[in-house]
Order: sequence, then C-alpha cells, then structure tokens
Amino acid sequence: MRADIRGLQAYPVAHAEGCIKLDAMECPYPLPPALRDAVAAAIAHSDLTRYPGDNAALRARVRQAFDVPEAAGLVFGNGSDELIHLLVQACCAPGDVVLSPWPSFVYFDMAARFDHARFVGVPLTPALELDLPALLDAIAREQPRLVFLALPNNPTGGLWSDDAVRAVLAAAPGLVVVDEAYQPFAGHTWMPEVLAHPNLVVLRTVSKIGLAGLRFGYLASHPAWTAELDKVRPPYNIGVHTQAALDVLLAHKDVLDDMAARLRADREPLARALAALPGVTVFPSSGNFLLLRTDRGADAVQAALAGRRILVRNVSRFHPLLTDCLRVSIGAPDENAALLAALTDILSA
Ligand SMILES: *Cc1c(COP(=O)(O)O)cnc(C)c1O
Repeated sequence: MRADIRGLQAYPVAHAEGCIKLDAMECPYPLPPALRDAVAAAIAHSDLTRYPGDNAALRARVRQAFDVPEAAGLVFGNGSDELIHLLVQACCAPGDVVLSPWPSFVYFDMAARFDHARFVGVPLTPALELDLPALLDAIAREQPRLVFLALPNNPTGGLWSDDAVRAVLAAAPGLVVVDEAYQPFAGHTWMPEVLAHPNLVVLRTVSKIGLAGLRFGYLASHPAWTAELDKVRPPYNIGVHTQAALDVLLAHKDVLDDMAARLRADREPLARALAALPGVTVFPSSGNFLLLRTDRGADAVQAALAGRRILVRNVSRFHPLLTDCLRVSIGAPDENAALLAALTDILSA
C-alpha cells in the first residue's frame, strides 16, 4: 500500500439507527408513496442480465429536467464524487496543481491526492468569505490544471459572487469546476453560461435533493472536454436500476423541487432561532445546511447532541478557520424543533 494512502482516514459514515440525522445534508422528506411504487415497478422491469445500454433517453431526460443547454456535453457519474475524481484523472499529471478556496468540500483534496496531484487550498477570510485577491494570486503562482469552486460552498454555506467567479474563469489557465451540489437551495446557477466560458465545467448531483441513495451526478461543459472525460469514465458506471429509477423520478421533478423549496423556506427561521441561543454564531448559508460556532466547544456540544440521538457534523478539526464549528442539515420541521430544544437545553446547562 502507498504510504500516503496508509496515512489517510476513510470517509466516515455514521451509524444512524434511530437518530435524527442532520449530518449529511440529505433531504428529510420521503418520496410520495405513489412515486416510490412507480420507481419500484420500473426497477422490477429492468434487465439485470445485460450491461446497461446506451443511455440516450436518460441523457435527454436529464437535459430537459435540469436545463442543460442542448449543445453542452454531458457525463454521468456514480455520484458527483466520481466525476470529481475523473476530472483529476483526466487533467492532472503527477505534481500538477488542483486548487480550491479552503475549507471546502474534502473530496477535492482527496481526489487530487489519489492521483498524485498537488492540492492547494486558499484560505477563506476569518468571516469565511472568499478571499478573491489571495485566490487570484494563488492561481497566478500555481497555474492549476483544475480550480474547484463549490457554489454554495460546503461546509460554510457561502455563495461566491458572480464577479468573483468571472475573475477566476478569466484568470485560470485550466478548467474551473463550479460544483453546484447545493444549487437547488441557492436559486442561482452557472448552467446557462456553461458554453459561454471555454473553461467552465458545471457539476451537479441529485444527492441533496432527495436522492442521496441513488448515487447519481452529472457534469456539463463544452463537448471537447466531456469527450475526453468520457475516456476515463469506468465503463457502465450507471447501473440499470439507477437509470430506471431516474427515468421515472425526473418525469416528476416537481416533487423534488417542492421538497427543496420547503427546506429553503425553513432555512432563515432556523438560522435566526439558532443565532438567538447563548454563545452561538450562525454563518450565512445558501445551502440546505447551516454552519454554526459555539463558545462551549464543538466536541462537547456534538457529544451532548449525540447523547440525545441527534447527529450533526463536527467540522471543528477540519481547518483552523472552523474551530468550534458544527454543521447541521436543515431537517423536517419536527427535526429542526428537536435540534433547537436540545441545543437550548445543552447550552443553558
Ligand atoms: C455532497 C457534495 C457532493 C457529493 O455528491 P455525490 O453526488 O453524493 O457524490 C459534491 N460536492 C459537494 C460540494 C458536496 O457537498
């Protein structure tokens, strides 16, 4: 085994039986029973004996459901994590630089390391905003093959300005990957401009809009780039069950949109209620989650919540800028109420 791999930790997955799960930005709402039945029927009819066929129909469905421009190329991934890895594999020779504002999505760093690229994280400001001058300096100095911009950013929730993204697109010598995992909660997208900038790649996932279990992500860009990425994609990476389920689900995308709209509407009231708790600071968020800082110590507060069977993500050791920070997904109303009640109790003790 490679020494650097032996030094890593596997991506943690919490044991969540019987818990209120606010640690992974999943949608808390179940699909309507009629839709679940339709998905089950479609899966039951899929052919397990053959490799998945050409997915032209699914391609058309995805284009239509997510407003992907007709002339843009598309690549599908087994989750957008797989597409992040494909980008590094296709673009980076050993030692080439992958760059991102930091802290951001951990897998940008992990995928770079796996393929012997050098990851450079450019620190956010102490208020967890984008430090654009530092980012542009780093791009000029490091000449990255890939720049990842999570819009909105995970785990901080911030949405970098259009002007900042345009400046990065103009300055970057390689591809700029705008990761829109949380786009449905931000009401903002770069998808319509994907062909207007030669180096723009837009990355999306269905994980945060109610389909995390499905493992499906997609990437849109100029077809010249997707043609190359397709060469690196593992053959048949989207199974027949995923294809069959998506075909039904995307015909009812309004259901997914409604669930996202409910979470989005609940975000500001929850942020205000959390910010009113003693010693709690809440950072502005455009995602389906909130980053908060507690003056009682993130470890202690997380443990106390876990004792009450509420799972949140402790990001306090991920980066010095996140000291004493916890990340909580927006849940269903009863889950948000349980979180608030528990925190009120814990923080007044
Ligand atoms: C959750 C997340 C993803 C991963 O999505 P999958 O499709 O579930 O692999 C990608 N990017 C960001 C920024 C995320 O937070």
